[in-house]
Amino acid sequence: MQTSFSITQLMDPQIASSEKILRACVHCGFCTATCPTYVLLGDELDSPRGRIYLIKEMLEQDKPATPEVVKHIDRCLSCLACMTTCPSGVHYMHLVDYARERIEKTYKRPAIDRALRAVLARVLVNPRLFRLAVVAGLIARPLAPVFAALGMRPVAAMLRLTPRRKPAPPAERSGKVYPPEGKRRGRVALLSGCINPVLAPSTNEAAIRLLNRHGIEVVRAAGEACCGSLAHHMGREDEALSQARNNIDAWTRELEGQGLDAILVTVSGCGTTIKDYGFLLRNDPAYAAKAARVSACTRDVTEYLAVLGLREAGASAPLTVAYHAACSLQHGQKVLRQPKNLLSKAGFVVKDVPEGHLCCGSAGTYNILQSVLAEQLRARKVANIELLKPDAIATGNIGCIMQLAAGTNIPVVHTVELLDWATGGPVPGPLVELVKRRASAR
Ligand code: SF4
Ligand code: SF4
Repeated sequence: MQTSFSITQLMDPQIASSEKILRACVHCGFCTATCPTYVLLGDELDSPRGRIYLIKEMLEQDKPATPEVVKHIDRCLSCLACMTTCPSGVHYMHLVDYARERIEKTYKRPAIDRALRAVLARVLVNPRLFRLAVVAGLIARPLAPVFAALGMRPVAAMLRLTPRRKPAPPAERSGKVYPPEGKRRGRVALLSGCINPVLAPSTNEAAIRLLNRHGIEVVRAAGEACCGSLAHHMGREDEALSQARNNIDAWTRELEGQGLDAILVTVSGCGTTIKDYGFLLRNDPAYAAKAARVSACTRDVTEYLAVLGLREAGASAPLTVAYHAACSLQHGQKVLRQPKNLLSKAGFVVKDVPEGHLCCGSAGTYNILQSVLAEQLRARKVANIELLKPDAIATGNIGCIMQLAAGTNIPVVHTVELLDWATGGPVPGPLVELVKRRASAR
């Protein structure tokens, strides 16, 4: 694709890297076929190629974002299916990330939208505030249809997504070390995250038991907090980078202290962002090297376990599991086989979901800010999963777990919960009833 940036514009490193990406696009349009929003809406401007043109125009003209640009970029899930499909290696992720940053800096959203985004950016990343919000959501859940009728779709979407159970109580885990069973084979840091401790503490508890059982010492680095992913996807770059720097400092202390073999992440959306810290902070002289080191050490938990190898395992009640590949894991990190291979080795019958490349609609805050499209994508995903008649759904991202659980009665669990169970851990909470029923029917 030809571009027409001035020399002065190209002196800005952000414009220079965007220009390289734009020039790689040969506008062949292959990416449109796998773009969820193009599949749903059939509008070229809601396809990767259309968005690339819009971004090119916005950057070349060096003008504030227009309502049209904002509309179509906001509708992008950042699912990155287009990057998997693109034969020319166009790095759409870095392009759209910068477009979102430009939008936040140059476009004034309506007051209600600004307020909602500010609240999400503040509450979701703070487990204490998020816990309070979940309790309020539990109480107000029945009012979801009322908010929808009043046109307050994001509020209605948040209430519908609120799980029916109470949030987990607060627990001080920062700086805690979990010793391995038997001889130590390695030492890793595990990201605690901000959503997991409130909605699904069982995921990291299962990961720790599983790693300890396999001889791995686990540390929750002192001072570590939100990875910055949520703010980053909303274009709030200053907040995102400050959260990234905080975590880089926390993990660097561990790397330079007792040492780490890896930094493990059980939320693939966060993993994709942390693996990109090196790029995000490449122009920060104080952090560029440290950020690159942290990114290079970061692994999805299943990537690490695949190399480590599972000890003798066998699901105590073999189940058929539909494996839902989170976009951030399959497209963002290209971790494809490891979770499925581990589940198969652990004794589960693993089934691929038809149209597995399409997003479930979760995508960070997308299912709140773009609830109509997100609900359509979830309905499509759930229909594809239900065709398989699985006993359970396994996935590697809390966003997908919440999104799918709000649309189906099939239990949804994190992959590590199944692996932990199969190697001697407890039955994952959502499967307890099913396992009891199976046992009494035998
Ligand atoms: S597939 Fe790649 S090169 Fe082709 S239009 Fe899409 S982004 Fe551009
Ligand atoms: S990231 Fe996903 S939604 Fe956005 S353009 Fe690419 S395929 Fe479409």
